[in-house]
Amino acid sequence: MEKVERVVLASPRGFCAGVEMAIKSLAWMTRVFEPPVYCYHEIVHNQIVVERFKEMGVIFVDDLADVPEGAPLMLSAHGSPPQLVDAAQARAGTLVNAVCPLVRKVHHEVKMRARKGYSIVYVGHEGHQEAVGTAAVAPEAVHRIEHMEELEALPEAAGPVAFLAQTTLAMDEWKTLLDAAKKRWPELWVPGTSDLCFATTNRQTALKAIAARCDAVVVIGSHTSSNTRALERTARAAGCPTVLRVDSPDELPTDLAGTVGVIAGASAPEEVVQDVISHLGPSEGVEEVMAVDEDEYFPLPRELREVVRQLAALAAVAGVAPGGDPSTAGDKLPEDRELSASMALAGLAD
Ligand code: SF4
Repeated sequence: MEKVERVVLASPRGFCAGVEMAIKSLAWMTRVFEPPVYCYHEIVHNQIVVERFKEMGVIFVDDLADVPEGAPLMLSAHGSPPQLVDAAQARAGTLVNAVCPLVRKVHHEVKMRARKGYSIVYVGHEGHQEAVGTAAVAPEAVHRIEHMEELEALPEAAGPVAFLAQTTLAMDEWKTLLDAAKKRWPELWVPGTSDLCFATTNRQTALKAIAARCDAVVVIGSHTSSNTRALERTARAAGCPTVLRVDSPDELPTDLAGTVGVIAGASAPEEVVQDVISHLGPSEGVEEVMAVDEDEYFPLPRELREVVRQLAALAAVAGVAPGGDPSTAGDKLPEDRELSASMALAGLAD
């Protein structure tokens, strides 16, 4: 019988700084507020994470009308349309906006370029929450595209043109579109720092570093996750003969053999990575390949920091930290940096 000989494990992988911040924020909310806590859209695009929070009583909604007036409400990491943020502010008792700072950066770029009279070519997936939220910053100026034909079909612009993007695209696909846009509009404005975030580019770089050696690549993450789907396409473009995307190990086929590469999208928990490796059971073990060092950290949203700071000032409430050890009740709450999203998720089961 064929069997898996070796797992080549790509690094960095899994939770990025933005996802870490969002998960810890929602975990805090479940500890700080009377249930139920509401979350507008999935906090991150991962079914396992969302189900864990549902078990804790978090109610995910796609319509603000489903949030009772005065309830605690979180907005997801993908960013929300400014109009929705305003409406949520008016409706929620406490609103925590867990938008990733790197998505917020693109919102700012859209706002500034639109104000200066630019037409904005924005590369983003149709219907994806991040793209919807970003385009809504200046809908009159943004032309969302995804494919080359859409770029070519854009009308001539009356004024200057800017080129912006969703943070989680496949690098090579984005670069092809960027090169074509530069040819069409030689004066094209492009941000000094790419809109593709470090987590997206690092995971794709890590995957490229291992893909050529692998008989198959397993990408861990949900089908709704843009950066996970970009990893799938990156592995295929690298010539990997078999590419599989799974949410959990029970979706793995039984006929994998030889060297199997493993990587996880930015919203996939490390515990699933370890479960997948156990399931594959490589006879010659696991080789981890670190392509890029990644140590970014994003603090909790400002509005939640203050709540947590007040809690931390009350030593008696130690142990309310998500992931905190109840046996240490009376100790200081851990610094946010010391608390990982995995700990927070595990702590939800307490
Ligand atoms: S994938 Fe990038 S943009 Fe999205 S949450 Fe993570 S760091 Fe932020």
